[in-house]
Amino acid sequence: MRIGFLGGSFNPVHCGHIAIARQALTEFSLDKVLLIVAADPPHKEIAFHVSASERLKMLECGLAEEARIEASGIELEREGKSYTYDTVQQLYKAYPGAELFCIVGADMLCDLPNWYRAAELLKSVAFVGFARGGEPCDVKSAAESLNARYSARVLLSKASGPELSSTEIRNRVYAAKSVSGMLPEGAERYLYENGLYLPADVRIKQEKLRAALNEERYVHTMGTVRAAMLLAQCYGADGEKARLAALLHDCAKVSKEVMAQYLKRFEVSPVGYSKGSPGILHGAIGAEVAREDYGVSDPEVLMAIANHTVCSQGMSVLEKITYVADKIEPTRSFCGVEELRAEAMRGLNEGVLACMDYGIKHLKEKGKAIDPCIFEAREYLIHHDIKNKEALH
Ligand code: FE
Ligand code: FE
Repeated sequence: MRIGFLGGSFNPVHCGHIAIARQALTEFSLDKVLLIVAADPPHKEIAFHVSASERLKMLECGLAEEARIEASGIELEREGKSYTYDTVQQLYKAYPGAELFCIVGADMLCDLPNWYRAAELLKSVAFVGFARGGEPCDVKSAAESLNARYSARVLLSKASGPELSSTEIRNRVYAAKSVSGMLPEGAERYLYENGLYLPADVRIKQEKLRAALNEERYVHTMGTVRAAMLLAQCYGADGEKARLAALLHDCAKVSKEVMAQYLKRFEVSPVGYSKGSPGILHGAIGAEVAREDYGVSDPEVLMAIANHTVCSQGMSVLEKITYVADKIEPTRSFCGVEELRAEAMRGLNEGVLACMDYGIKHLKEKGKAIDPCIFEAREYLIHHDIKNKEALH
């Protein structure tokens, strides 16, 4: 069996890592590639203090769909400083008779003679180097000299490594920018559901919310945050506001008992259509809860939370984003959701219209009453927002 392995912090794993692993699989006819999570270095701080076991779990989630790329925690079981030499010994024990290929960034080839027990290491495994461009040394001659000096087997990939970096992903998540498409879906979902790389004040709200909601609602909420980040990026909205509105949009969607308490506490007397309809009321009450219990004061954010259950005439971009993100978030799987997602990518107003129409159709099919204000909002959207936009072009 020919096994490649690639070590790293994977904080988080990104599509570049996967691209390298896939390239190595085909270019060097490997049977599988292991992505090995580096243990917490004793004196070095890991960004955002994401523990090795958490990074391993995130990696496993990211690789769930991969047939021949596996996550490995082999270095986490060892005490003390982690050397590639020791990892190789462990891998030979785990895979007797295997042929091992250590995958590294090509710049590391220049430094290889300084590695722990370099001569033995270079004899016991082949090395595969991926160039990233701008290497500080001549990679080709480094490979040749290693081969000559140590009778090593150093191979260079024809492909170059990716432009992506984990640092960029962490910074984007922190700054409420979308990371969609930069890392595997499972890893993205994991990092949001576990509140990684968030600013402290957002993380506090997210943890409080997690304690208040049931698991299903919480998963939906974090999916809504991801969708809102993507929509905010596409339509030039403020990412931080979109994140906050999405995070708290269902903060009042709790048990009937708690909802009854909220109704008393906030003296909300349901009027008209919303009377007795918790499905609609949790928006208005959610805005109150967000203000009182989560310390949100931004009126735009509170409005987006309040109105995510009802459509009104002249919705703001933030209201539209929250409304659409709630319907198309990535963990939704109802029949027709793909069309709604496609419309939302075509245009924000188109997305709102598609979600409205889906909602109307769905309620009609179920024989449920429809809030008349949605028809007014729909007319307004078509004649003002969509027509005006067309007129501008
Ligand atoms: Fe809701
Ligand atoms: Fe929701």
